[in-house]
Amino acid sequence: MRRESDSRCPHQVSDTIFTKNKEDFLCEHCDAAVVGNGYTNHCPQCLWSKHVDVHPGDRAAGCGGLMEPAIVEIEAGESVLTHRCATCGHEKRNKVVPEDDYEKVLDVARYHV
Ligand SMILES: [Zn+2]
Ligand SMILES: [Zn+2]
Repeated sequence: MRRESDSRCPHQVSDTIFTKNKEDFLCEHCDAAVVGNGYTNHCPQCLWSKHVDVHPGDRAAGCGGLMEPAIVEIEAGESVLTHRCATCGHEKRNKVVPEDDYEKVLDVARYHV
């Protein structure tokens, strides 16, 4: 990743307004290398997530447990995936994004019917 030079703009936009983390990460469930886009917080290949956020991107949850893809619901034509933390049981709903492996989404949907 290219480092922004601060010679270009002396008034750095504070990144405390949005905590949008674009970090890549290694899926702890299937070892896939996931390219972060700041919003996708789960692995597109196995759909597992990690309990790190209280609000999306803030990394404020101290839990760090792996979050299992537990429920898939269709809402207004969109698939919504509920992750459940294997460590603390916290549930979080996430929209399924086009990057996600839809076969896996269907697996979750079928398994939990
Ligand atoms: Zn994975
Ligand atoms: Zn948790």
